[in-house]
Amino acid sequence: MPTVMPTRDPNAAVGTIARAADQSKTEATSGNIRVSYEFFPPKNTAMEEKLWEAIKKLEPLNPDFVSVTYGAGGSTRERTHNAVSRMVKETSFKPAAHLTCVGSEKAEIDEIVKAYWEAGVRHIVALRGDPQDGIDAKYVPTPKGYAYSCDLVAGIKDVADFDVSVGAYPELHPESSNWRDEIDNLKRKVDAGANRAITQFFFSPDVFSRFQDRVLDAGIDIPIVPGLMLQPNFKGLARMAGMCGVSVPDWYRELFEGLDKDTQTRELLTASLAAELTAELHDRGVRDFHLYTLNRAELAVAVSRILGLHHRQSGATKAA
Ligand SMILES: Cc1cc2nc3c(=O)[nH]c(=O)nc-3n(C[C@H](O)[C@H](O)[C@H](O)COP(=O)(O)OP(=O)(O)OC[C@H]3O[C@@H](n4cnc5c(N)ncnc54)[C@H](O)[C@@H]3O)c2cc1C
Repeated sequence: MPTVMPTRDPNAAVGTIARAADQSKTEATSGNIRVSYEFFPPKNTAMEEKLWEAIKKLEPLNPDFVSVTYGAGGSTRERTHNAVSRMVKETSFKPAAHLTCVGSEKAEIDEIVKAYWEAGVRHIVALRGDPQDGIDAKYVPTPKGYAYSCDLVAGIKDVADFDVSVGAYPELHPESSNWRDEIDNLKRKVDAGANRAITQFFFSPDVFSRFQDRVLDAGIDIPIVPGLMLQPNFKGLARMAGMCGVSVPDWYRELFEGLDKDTQTRELLTASLAAELTAELHDRGVRDFHLYTLNRAELAVAVSRILGLHHRQSGATKAA
């Protein structure tokens, strides 16, 4: 007897990625999906040109906000400020400036915060920062400085009513010895006025879901935004993961084995894995996403399209 295949709508969205793309169309246009992009401040003219090329490709996707990191110990203070100020003037982005406690007294930090407000910036990502002597060194608060992120959040809110984001760690911050300390710390940041928490990158959706459960159990109700890393350089990624206490699953590591010289395949793999993680999180009800772009557009555009951003009205470049 011939097998009778059940009839299926050939246009139905069957896989997780297809389902996310299908559903996110209306979610993105009605503001029910929020996507942000993270950049780092360029070191030289060539890097600045590359960043602005990426910005031009990403701007029409109309992200909810973008952010610019702050080098360890304030080493990029001016470059971060310049990049953020240029975004305010020349793009439709709502830029957020990262700021850390390391190496500056409170009065200095308050001046930086005021300067951002005067430049039209309304969002700060408030972090403690890593020790000036490197991520493995013992953290010692700067005398007369803000000691921890929660102190910085309170200081920023005293200067002006900024939107404030903070960091969160689905696999524990390396200096936290247990989940109670970790969640208590997040709570202190929320009590100080944090509006959302952006997570360290991770590889498994279960890692994020478990963290979300812990946060909800603790009665924390600000959005917890998964940070998705779009880094095709696996060696660099694994090094960073090791320093930040992020676990790389064996299957992920094995996928990149022997590909050190094959950039194209690594990029294809990174795109597929990011697409799957995004879609799986979407399937689990996540609607906020923060993409670590590494100042490149292609992978961020691909993930954003899965999240329906290309259906939004495009943001026109102010300078154009
Ligand atoms: C989304 C995101 C963006 C980032 N961007 C940058 C950036 O631009 N520049 C940069 O330099 N770094 C950046 N980082 C890295 C960050 O600075 C480090 O992870 C840093 O080690 C912790 O910062 P935090 O704000 O989470 O610290 P905190 O929330 O202050 O916590 C750090 C640790 O201290 C512990 N702790 C808190 N309060 C106390 C206390 N009173 N006594 C003792 N221990 C305490 C906490 O439990 C935790 O283990 C970023 C991290 C994330 C997740």
